[in-house]
Amino acid sequence: MKTAIITGISGQDGPYLAKLLLEKGYKVVGTVRSYRCANNKNFEYLGIEKEVVIEELDLLDMANVIRIIQKYKPDEIYNLAAQSSVGLSFYQPLGTFSFNTTSVNNLLESIRLFSPTTKLYQASSSEMYGRVKTLPITLETPMNPISPYGVSKMASYFMVKTYRESYDLFVCNGVLFNLESYLRSDNFFVKKVIKDSIAIKNGKLDKLIVGNLNIKRDFGYAPKYIEAMWKILQADNPSDFIICSGKSILLRDIVEYIFDKMNLDKTLIVEDKSLFRPNEIEDIYGDNSKAKEVLGWEYSMSFYEVLDILIEEELSSIEK
Ligand code: NDP
Repeated sequence: MKTAIITGISGQDGPYLAKLLLEKGYKVVGTVRSYRCANNKNFEYLGIEKEVVIEELDLLDMANVIRIIQKYKPDEIYNLAAQSSVGLSFYQPLGTFSFNTTSVNNLLESIRLFSPTTKLYQASSSEMYGRVKTLPITLETPMNPISPYGVSKMASYFMVKTYRESYDLFVCNGVLFNLESYLRSDNFFVKKVIKDSIAIKNGKLDKLIVGNLNIKRDFGYAPKYIEAMWKILQADNPSDFIICSGKSILLRDIVEYIFDKMNLDKTLIVEDKSLFRPNEIEDIYGDNSKAKEVLGWEYSMSFYEVLDILIEEELSSIEK
């Protein structure tokens, strides 16, 4: 039986990944900052709350990281823990940078010193590329991050690459573009728009207040992207991969699609300038051909199909 550690297991991606690994016969150890704030709701939603071993781990404390690695001798570590909100990173730039980089450095150094056969997946992000001159984004596109979050993810991306090339470790970056699911936190755009639209429909909210809708993003479906995380660590050789849908969609089109599905009046959509970010990427989409060719990862969903699933799931969770 293989053992995998998932850091940041209680977020959006962690529970889906845990479920996938459990189905594949892994022992899954998930780490949280503190038992007190461990969020069991997402595990319960996927029916895996009894199957995951939960450990407290302070990723900023290397001694603590070493202890966990020595205790479980994991075959694979999936490092998902991060301050993951771009918007919040403008308010917490130092906290975001220091956590998102030091945690990765501690994992890499612990693996190098104490467990060099452990494979590491690092959750890298399209936000590292920022404002680029040419699309689609490939691994060769020069990085030009424009948020503290993007800068932090870029630093850890290169640290992973440096350790792989210097010490012959199986450590890899999965560069994921926005992935969405029912388990997304309420402060992220798509989840917020769906939940608020349902609240308007049910007479519990007057209008939808959003930030800049004239930007485009490459969105995909989290449970499908999670499969790519696992495949990256099963490849013959360690390397980095872009995981995305390959197409971008205007945020305004997403909101209007959701409003049409709910028969809501579009004059209730309010763009509030105070919610605009200090700096914003206008359009971004990636090239997933390496993942398709090397990993055999397939993705063909349109984002409207994903929205249909998300709206349905949100509505049925309210009915329960
Ligand atoms: P979430 O924000 O949903 O979850 C992040 C997890 O990290 C949570 O479990 C959170 O714990 C934990 N965490 C946050 N800050 C700290 C901290 N200071 N110390 C310890 N743990 C911390 O993110 P997702 O699941 O959506 O994303 C997983 C990873 O993938 C992240 O690294 C993210 O940056 C990256 N990524 C995500 C994309 C996406 O669209 N979802 C796209 C590209 C990359 P707690 O619950 O206690 O807050």
